[in-house]
Amino acid sequence: MNFLLIGSGGREHALAWKLAQSRLLKPEGRKPGKLYAAPGNPGIAEFAQCVSLDVTDHGAVVAFCEDKRIGLVIVGPEAPLVDGLADSLRSEGVSVFGPSKAAAQLEGSKSFTKDLCARANIPTAAYVHADNEAAALAALSDFAIPVVVKADGLAAGKGVIIAESREEAEEAIRDIFGGMFGAAGASVVIEEFMTGEEASFFALTDGATVVPFGSAQDHKRVGDGDTGPNTGGMGAYSPARVLTPMLRGQVLERIIAPTVHQMAKDGTPYSGVLYAGLMLTDEGPKLIEYNCRFGDPECQVLMMRLEDDLGEFLYASADNALGRMSAPRFSKDTALTVVMAANGYPATPEKGGVIRGLDAAEAAAKGGKVFHAGTAEKDGQLVANGGRVLNVTATGATVGEAQKAAYAMVDAIDFPGGFCRRDIGWREVEREAQ
Ligand code: ATP
Repeated sequence: MNFLLIGSGGREHALAWKLAQSRLLKPEGRKPGKLYAAPGNPGIAEFAQCVSLDVTDHGAVVAFCEDKRIGLVIVGPEAPLVDGLADSLRSEGVSVFGPSKAAAQLEGSKSFTKDLCARANIPTAAYVHADNEAAALAALSDFAIPVVVKADGLAAGKGVIIAESREEAEEAIRDIFGGMFGAAGASVVIEEFMTGEEASFFALTDGATVVPFGSAQDHKRVGDGDTGPNTGGMGAYSPARVLTPMLRGQVLERIIAPTVHQMAKDGTPYSGVLYAGLMLTDEGPKLIEYNCRFGDPECQVLMMRLEDDLGEFLYASADNALGRMSAPRFSKDTALTVVMAANGYPATPEKGGVIRGLDAAEAAAKGGKVFHAGTAEKDGQLVANGGRVLNVTATGATVGEAQKAAYAMVDAIDFPGGFCRRDIGWREVEREAQ
């Protein structure tokens, strides 16, 4: 079978690395299949043939799949899913890992998800959805401070304002309706502020069967000690031990399973990976948000721990066959990834900084991997080509060991134009020390 992987980040590098090991690509006694990536990156190019395809041109993607006899398309990022690429491919008979446009609303529209939670009685923050400024301002009085104001649509993680005063909340509402986030701010969701520790939980589903697929915790702030502005994520580790077996059971039973059931009941069955952002509150786990794809960089640490054939699981999700799979096996070790970003990230990352020493980094920790997130090749050199540039990933029996190994790798990398946090995993390392 041939695969087409869509995307170009560290998440897709990790997926390509695992997919390249899939038995589906190497059927016994038959011609081996091929892995294509659109557009891919220099790290992915080690495992895949990188092709340039305009993924917003669904007709071109369908034609490519027919021409190259693609047996499974794996969509990495959310934008093509929210844009309906999976529907266009499926309607032409191409198997896709990832939800339909209607089902991807779980990520694409916060009010869609909140309304679904209300119908299915899924624990989440109390909320009001308002489609005009006056209604939103009036609704504010129902909430205590701090209060959370969110643009309804996708705003690259920037459309969420935690307001510490009523004035700040009112200003956020005026900004959103004033067009600060464009169409994503056509309406707002106002939410009760929840307190607790955050964790990410992943499940694969084909619309009926649900298979837990690991947990992780990320680090959104740019600076050590969780300071400074929010980013796409500066590092992650897996598993999230704070999600005890009991809590994982609750997440599955009270949040994930009812979501999948309700989506099917509503005529918009969800298939693909369901990534739940959770708040572990005193009243139990509550849903903050859903994402309709793997997290980046959480995917990198999940892939480091996955001991089974990724291709088979993704194909089973696309083919309504997850019920025939046994539970996926993950290593008991911790995997931890440190994001090396370009100087100036997240505001104005500098492009073009030269990177050396990736082989030395991988040699510095047994089994360590450096995933390329935003790199390019220029004049025979590897250079930074994005905000988040490298994901330096290692494993260990404890978070402390994985952290030590990952930073030994970081220290072997020569990237003067980049920086990283030095405390990824701190919460868990502190717990381990107790
Ligand atoms: P991202 O792309 O960063 O995941 P997003 O735009 O999809 O962000 P959310 O995940 O809904 O937005 O919120 C971003 C962050 O804001 C959460 O990770 C959490 O820290 C905080 N947050 C959101 N909703 C709440 C809430 N009700 N109570 C407390 N904190 C919240």
